[in-house]
Amino acid sequence: MTIKLYNTLTRRLEEFIPLQPGKVGFYSCGPTVYHYTHLGNLRTFLHNDFLKRMFLANNYEVRHVMNITDVGHLTNDEDDSGEDKMEKGAARENKSVWDIAKFYKDEFLRDFNDLNMIAPTVMPHATDYITEQIELVQKLEELGFTYEIPGDGIYYDTAKFAAYGALTGGTLSGNRAGARVDFNDAKRNPTDFALWKYSPKDAKRQMEWDSPWGVGFPGWHAECSAMSMKLLGNHFDIHTGGEDLSRVHHANEIAQSEPITGAPWVNTWLHYSFLLDKSGEKMAKSKGEFLGMDAVRTRGYDPMVYRYFVAMGHYQSQLAFSWETMDATAKSYTNLVRRVADLMGAEGQAINQEIYNKWHDDMVAAMSDNLKTASVLVLLQEFIKSNDIDNATKLALVRFIDELLGLQFIDRAKKLIALERESAPSEIVELAEQRLAAKANKDWATADSLRAEIDAAGWTVLDGKDGYKIVKKA
Ligand code: AMP
Ligand code: ZN
Repeated sequence: MTIKLYNTLTRRLEEFIPLQPGKVGFYSCGPTVYHYTHLGNLRTFLHNDFLKRMFLANNYEVRHVMNITDVGHLTNDEDDSGEDKMEKGAARENKSVWDIAKFYKDEFLRDFNDLNMIAPTVMPHATDYITEQIELVQKLEELGFTYEIPGDGIYYDTAKFAAYGALTGGTLSGNRAGARVDFNDAKRNPTDFALWKYSPKDAKRQMEWDSPWGVGFPGWHAECSAMSMKLLGNHFDIHTGGEDLSRVHHANEIAQSEPITGAPWVNTWLHYSFLLDKSGEKMAKSKGEFLGMDAVRTRGYDPMVYRYFVAMGHYQSQLAFSWETMDATAKSYTNLVRRVADLMGAEGQAINQEIYNKWHDDMVAAMSDNLKTASVLVLLQEFIKSNDIDNATKLALVRFIDELLGLQFIDRAKKLIALERESAPSEIVELAEQRLAAKANKDWATADSLRAEIDAAGWTVLDGKDGYKIVKKA
């Protein structure tokens, strides 16, 4: 099936042509693990997951690399000033930087799993690739792209890279006009950035390494170039990140990588729009109530409700978060789970292959058309209500949606059934268990009489592949 994605580099919706048929390699900028990941970060990671699932549905072999930033990201990365975010986190919590990184990485992975995201093929840590980052800076030095700011570090001279800022359509002078005026005036150009920062003379950093230029640490952008080239090669298919990354971080990644590869580095750049807070501003860690998965869990929402909320939007549109919208989303999600639970009795029955194929292909087509997750949800609402489709086929289609959007409808429907089963009186559950045993022994006569007994008491047993459910008769 034709796959179309919006490429920030060409500013066009383009047909995706893989570098190797049937395979896709993509790199995603991952979290900086100095604090909890907020719902905005998680929105971005969820879109990566939808992208991956779209490729899997098209039978691609997917190689996904997402980094963990555990060093080098400064509080003001626009002009390479401020504190290292990790060291700042360590001081805030009176822990070592390594403990901070481990703690927040584990918290991030918990959220990642709760949201049912497929693990990346490789999840490299910046601190495990210091040698590669030093080598990257050395190559740029040999090619004449670097200069030193004494007492500060090694910088990249963006004037030497003619295509600087191509991702956002800007030339160097265009970017210069929009750049901060209070930039580090030792830089040759406002858009220049640090490749290697020296440790301060008067203080010891917790994370620092020897290098040909002196003890210090890599600039934030270096890790993504070094790790992606090492793990995906000098030319790969897709690079993704939130919309804030295109102007500086990704512009710098391209500037660092293309002089080395000597050719275009990444074919498609995908940028996901922001999650906004209630006041319409970009969600951020530092503003107002901290909105992360803990808040979602504490308020009693199933993490799938947040995943469903993100799937209802499109990656190229900003999305406003509020608890009111979460309530409305929870209602839709729960209604769907209820409907799926009602289909579970049809488990194991024959499906109508022709009808299945039609809906299946429509859903894959919606996803392949620039990741239209919301259109898949519209199709779900349509087929689930349709009177022309049998329950077994509907159920098989829901199973497929679980693969395509990862919304865990089947799992939640099973849990709902288990909950309802629990609420039947114990003597009815006992009869149902005896009936299950009779069925297992192929003692159909006993099974039938037990069903009649349950029926007479006002309950109905529905059979499914994973057991049975007991529902109160209307
Ligand atoms: P960070 O942990 O700050 O390095 O960010 C991790 C990812 O989240 C990056 O791809 C950011 O672009 C993205 N991101 C940051 N804020 C938001 C937001 N409000 N909405 C969507 N994505 C975001
Ligand atoms: Zn990155």
